[in-house]
Amino acid sequence: HPTDLTMLGLGAMGSALTAALLDADHSVTVWNRTPGRDTDLVARGAHAAGSVREAVTASPVVVACLLKHDSVHETLDPVIDALRGRTLVNVTTTTPEEARELASWAAAHGVDYLDGAIMAVPAMISSRAGQIFYSGSRAAYDALLPIIDIWATSEFHGEDAGRASLVDLAMLSGMYQLFAGFVHGAAMVGSVGMSACDFAARQAPFLAAMTAELAGFAKVIDGGDYTVPNQQSLDFSDLSHIVRASEGQGVDPAPIAAVQALIDRQVAAGHGSEGFARIYESLRATVSTG
Ligand code: NDP
Repeated sequence: HPTDLTMLGLGAMGSALTAALLDADHSVTVWNRTPGRDTDLVARGAHAAGSVREAVTASPVVVACLLKHDSVHETLDPVIDALRGRTLVNVTTTTPEEARELASWAAAHGVDYLDGAIMAVPAMISSRAGQIFYSGSRAAYDALLPIIDIWATSEFHGEDAGRASLVDLAMLSGMYQLFAGFVHGAAMVGSVGMSACDFAARQAPFLAAMTAELAGFAKVIDGGDYTVPNQQSLDFSDLSHIVRASEGQGVDPAPIAAVQALIDRQVAAGHGSEGFARIYESLRATVSTG
C-alpha cells in the first residue's frame, strides 16, 4: 500500500509527529519495534506495516523517530538495500558526530539524508510553538518543507548533517545550565529554610527579565571587542563573593565556581577590565571549533 511517508518509531514523539501528518490528510505507514503501539494511529487512518522492510518500501520518505543513534542502525541496517533512492529524515536525537556518521552511511547506500533536531515536546507538535532544526540534504529539505512544516517551524542549518544536532545541543546546554543555576540558588536559600517554591516564585520572573541581556552579550561576542564602554568589567563581575556565600552555608558552589573559574582565567590573562562576555574566550580556548 503506497503512502506519502513512513514513520519508524511510535514513542511519544513519533506518535505526535504521525498524528500531525494524519490530521493534515497525509497517508502514513507506521512501524514500531514493539507491536501494539499503533492502535490509536491506525484508528485515525495510518497504515500498519508488519515489518521494517514493508514500512520502508511503502513510502518515498522514511522518518525515523527512535531512541538514539544505535536504534537507527539496529532498525535500518538489515533493510538498507530497500532504502536506496528514498529519503531518510532522521529526527532521532544524536550527537553531531553520530548525525555525520549516519549521513555518510546513507550516502554510501544511495539514500538522501536529512537530519532533524526537535526543539519541542510532543504536546507542542503542530502548535507552532516548537522549532525543528534540519541539516544535511538541501534538496530533501526544500522538497519536504510543506510536509515538515506541519510539525513545527522549520529551519535549515546547512549541508553539514551534524549542524542541526549541534545547535540543538547548544540550546539544551544553555537551558540545563540555567536550570542548574536555579537549583544551586534553591540550595543556598534552602540552607536557611526558604522553600524552593518560594525561591522559584522570585527567581523565574528575574531570570525572564535577565534574558534581555543575551542579545547585548551576543553583539559583543560577534564583534570580538570586549572593551565595550558601559559594560560591567570582569573585575566588577567577580563572583567570588557568591562562591564564598555558598560555601559559608555549606552548599556546594560547583555551578557558580565554574563560572568564576572562567572569569579568573581572563583576569589572569590581563583582561580584568573587560566585560563579562569576555569569558567566551575562556571557552573558545579549550573547545575545538572544527
Ligand atoms: P520514547 O521513549 O517515547 O520512544 C522511543 C521509541 O524508540 C519507541 O518507539 C521505541 O520502540 C523505539 N526504540 C528504542 N530503541 C529501539 C531500537 N533499538 N530499535 C527500534 N526501535 C527502538 O521516546 P520519544 O518518542 O519521546 O523520543 C524519540 C526521539 O525523539 C528520541 O531520540 C528523543 O530524544 C527525541 N525527542 C523527544 C522529545 C520529547 O519531548 N519526547 C523532544 C525532542 C526530541 P519500543 O516501543 O519498541 O520500545
